[in-house]
Formats: sequence, structure tokens, C-alpha cells
Amino acid sequence: MATHEVFNQPDALMDYNLFEGNRGMRDALAFNAPGLDTASLSTLGGRWGTRAMQVHARLANVHAPQLHSHDRSGRRIDQVEFHPSYHALMAQAVGAGLHATAWSAPQGGHAHLLRAAGFMLFTELEPSTLCPISMTYAVTPALRSNAAVYADWSAGLASLQYDASAVRWSDKAGLTMGMGMTEKQGGSDVRANTTQAVADGQDAWGKRYLVTGHKWFMSAPMCDAFLILAQTPAGVSCLFLPRVLPDGTVNAIHIQRLKDKLGNKANASSEVEFVDATAWLVGDEGRGVPQILEMGTMTRLDCALGTSGLMRQSLAIALHHTAQRQAFGKPLIAQPLMRNVLADLALESEAACMLALRLARAFDRPDDAHERAMARLLTPVAKFWICKRGSHFAQEAMECLGGNGYVEEGGEGVMARIYREMPLNSIWEGAGNIMAIDLLRALRKSDAAAALAHECAPARGTHAALDRLIAALPTRIEAADSEIGARRLAQDIALALQASLLAQSAPGYVVGTFCASRLAGDWGHVFGTLGAGTDVDAIIKRAQPT
Ligand SMILES: Cc1cc2nc3c(=O)[nH]c(=O)nc-3n(C[C@H](O)[C@H](O)[C@H](O)COP(=O)(O)OP(=O)(O)OC[C@H]3O[C@@H](n4cnc5c(N)ncnc54)[C@H](O)[C@@H]3O)c2cc1C
Repeated sequence: MATHEVFNQPDALMDYNLFEGNRGMRDALAFNAPGLDTASLSTLGGRWGTRAMQVHARLANVHAPQLHSHDRSGRRIDQVEFHPSYHALMAQAVGAGLHATAWSAPQGGHAHLLRAAGFMLFTELEPSTLCPISMTYAVTPALRSNAAVYADWSAGLASLQYDASAVRWSDKAGLTMGMGMTEKQGGSDVRANTTQAVADGQDAWGKRYLVTGHKWFMSAPMCDAFLILAQTPAGVSCLFLPRVLPDGTVNAIHIQRLKDKLGNKANASSEVEFVDATAWLVGDEGRGVPQILEMGTMTRLDCALGTSGLMRQSLAIALHHTAQRQAFGKPLIAQPLMRNVLADLALESEAACMLALRLARAFDRPDDAHERAMARLLTPVAKFWICKRGSHFAQEAMECLGGNGYVEEGGEGVMARIYREMPLNSIWEGAGNIMAIDLLRALRKSDAAAALAHECAPARGTHAALDRLIAALPTRIEAADSEIGARRLAQDIALALQASLLAQSAPGYVVGTFCASRLAGDWGHVFGTLGAGTDVDAIIKRAQPT
């Protein structure tokens, strides 16, 4: 006998075009690359917004990877087994070229920007499979420093075919790469690495070493090779460590266990030990930290992009849910205070998207001095600020769904997944303090302050509070010699840039409210505190996903 009728339970947000429904992203792209052909993004946005892909995303996270360290006879195999949905997601990301195509595209175009937008869209579908994708994208600038390895591996790294087999690089249709820096005794402080590399001769790939030691975090251990740090007599050096050696034997990378993580469930993150593993030098001996940071710069970009994508997805779900759910006689989205929350989240999401895409654009013009300075300045700023805002954002978006936001089950369980994922981009590849301190380094060593002033100049006159902040920054930058104020400076540079960019790309009601709330103090300490008189209707309408 039926006890009750089920009603007033919203449908999950599925089968929509992630790109076409994202007005903020489309306007940010139009600003950063006027006339850009976005047809490919529309295709990807349609494909990755489908119910079928969302099922893959759920299954890949529910059925977490499993380590098989030994076979039934007790021999080491060091294999990680993934659910088929993980492989389906990887095939999608690789097929779209998110791991590489930006490097093989002709110079002078918008390849990094387009790839960045695609990366954000994929993040909306499933973020944790993007870990090896991001590391493969990031590795190219650093790997070029070993020309022989790069010559042999670059075609495989750029291939659009996903190949999960554990065989020699030359027998594979496509390759992926990871990185190993963090050790038990030091993560941020990688110079504390104790892993030892002993010279073992020379061959076609250059100086060869035998590596003994460990890594405390090494994600995606099924990648085909890794850039790692190890001590040589000259100091910390960067080495190329393939999983399968050129003679077809498996390298001595022993996976000890997989991390039991808060989120990021579909991705395997491992603890490994190297037992006389074979590796080749990349760059100069003793210069490993700056060498591997060329990779770190690109993964930091992806942290900003990824968090922006997660913000957008959680906002879209919140908008979709509150439009259907009735409380106190009308849809939640019609309740004035809920409108304040949603509009505030929409502003934050659009500003994050714009800042992250602006950073990506800088990598399309390495020959341009201003863009190089922006890349150096914006990388720590965007990684710090966007990722810091992520967890707070996800909590508030989740709360828009009430109890349904907190459960794992079904389509709207995406919210719980997003919430668990959010802190990660802030921690890995340099946690918040490390990014803020890196900003100080960037400001000391480059023409970043002048680049910042140049970047913000077109927005002068938009809002008095923005003018005041832009005018104050040069003096603050000049005086920025103490780490204690580094977070505040990173925050304020981020806000000045976000407002300046929105002033050039978004409607007046967006930038006006952004400046009034974030810069002029007409705001509280939580989302949903926009001032009276804010045009929340226009902001919410602009943010609607469908
Ligand atoms: C899911 C996941 C996947 C990962 N995958 C990889 C991977 O594939 N490869 C890899 O190499 N690493 C990986 N990591 C490790 C990650 O990059 C490190 O955890 C991170 O860099 C921080 O290092 P740590 O854990 O040693 O923390 P610590 O270095 O001990 O830092 C702890 C805290 O202290 C702060 N801090 C450090 N120094 C200072 C200072 N001078 N002043 C003020 N504050 C400071 C940091 O900001 C941080 O908040 C992964 C981590 C996670 C969670």
C-alpha cells in the first residue's frame, strides 16, 4: 500500500550543454580571444553534459582504484586496477586533447586558452581523472630539457589515443606522465628530498642514474613515466623515470599502498619506493627544483581552472534545484534571501572563470614580455585565490539543496563529490601559504608590478573602489618584504584583476556589484550578503545553465 506520493523533489541536472549554458565563460573567451571559434567547445559541452557521461563519473568514483602489488604467486606486479568508467573518462579527456594538444598547435593561436576552457568543462563532469591529464599537459616545458627523451616521447604524449597498457613506450598508442616530488619529511620543502640518484653511465637518453628512495604522494602511478626529484652529488636534480624500461622490463617502482583520500576518489594516489630504479637526467644536475617547477607552473594553472569548473558546476546545480524546489509557497529561487545567495555565488564563479582563463591566455604568448610577466604573476595569485574560495563556495552551493545536497546518492550526489574535491586544488602543487610566498618572489624578481598596472589600466573609472585599490597596489607591492602580509596582498591583487577583467567583459550589473561587495565593503563575511538594491534578477538570469 502506498504511504505517500513523492513530489517537490527536483530532477537532477543532466543532458544539457555545459558550454552553451555558461554565459560567463563564453564572454570571458570572447574577451580573451575575440572571434575565437568555439564550435569544438560546444561539441564537448554537449557530450560531457549527458546523463551517460555522468553515470561514468559516478561509477569511477564509487568503484575506487585498487592496488595489486603482487600476483597470486607472490611476484611484484605493482598494478592499479580501475573501473571501466575511469578508462571511459580518460579516453574522453585524451581524445579531446586536454593532455597535450596545446603544445603541438601552431604558435600565436589560442591553443592554451581553448584547452583551458575544455579542461574546465571536463572538470564539471569529473575532476579526479584529470590528475594524470593535467600532469601530462604540464610536463612538456620541463621534458624539453632532455631533447633525446623528448624526441622519442613527444608524439606519444601528444597522441589523442588513450592506451592504458603497461608496455614499452614505443609499443603504445598514447602516453601519460606524472610527477614525484613530495616525500615523507618534506613536501613544500622539496630540497629536503632524501631519495638518492647514483650515476650509472650514459646512453641515447643522456646521463643515466640508479634511484633509491621513496615518494609519499605520487598520483596516477599507472602513468608511463614520471618526472621526479632526487639527490645527486650536485644537489636536487630532476629525473625522467619510465615505468617500463626501453628493454621492456618493468622499472623498480614499488607501489606500497594507495592513499585513502577525502575525495578525488577516481584517481589513484600512491606511496612508492624506488629500488635502484633507472632514470635519466632532465636539465642540469643540481637544478632540479627550477626544472620541475616548469611543470608545476602548468599544474598550478590547472588547479585554478579546475576549481573554477567545480564552482560553475555547483552553482549550476544550485540554480537548477532551487528553481524546482518549493518552500513556503514558492520556488526557493524566488525567495529574496536565496536570490542573494545565488547571485553572490554567480559573481564569484564568473570572476574565478575570468581570472583562470586570463592566466591560460598568457601561456599562448610566451614571446610577449607582458604575457610572460602576467603568467609569472598570475600563476600564484590565481592558484591561491580561486582555490581558497572553492571550499567556502561549495559549502554554500550545497546548502542551497538542503539535505539533498549532503547525500551521496544519485544525480545530486555530485554536490558531495564536489565538496570533497574542493580542498585538494588548494593543497597540492603548493598550498596557500606557499603560493602567497611565491607571489612575493614573483614581485621581487620580475616586472610584475608594472604588468599588473598595465593590465588594470583599461578598467580605471569603472568604480571608485577599484580605482583606489589599483592606485594603492604599487606602493603596497614596493613595501611587500614581509611574508606575514603575503596572503592579504595575493587576495587584493586577485580582486583587482578580477574586477578589472570583468569591467572589460561583463555587464555593468556584474562588475558594479562585484566592486561594491568585494572592494567597497558593501558585503558580509559569508555569501548571500550583497547589498540592498543589487540587481540580483539580472545576475541570476545570466548565470542560468539552461
Ligand atoms: C590527493 C593528493 C595528490 C597528490 N599528488 C602528488 C603527486 O602526484 N606528486 C607529488 O609530488 N605530490 C603530490 N601531492 C602532495 C602535495 O603536493 C603536497 O601535499 C603539498 O605540496 C604540501 O606538502 P606537504 O604535504 O609536505 O605539507 P607541508 O610542506 O608540511 O606543508 C604543510 C602546511 O604548511 C605550510 N607551509 C609550508 N612551508 C611554509 C612556510 N615557509 N611558511 C608558511 N607556511 C608554510 C603549507 O602551505 C601547508 O599549508 C598530492 C597531495 C594530495 C593531497
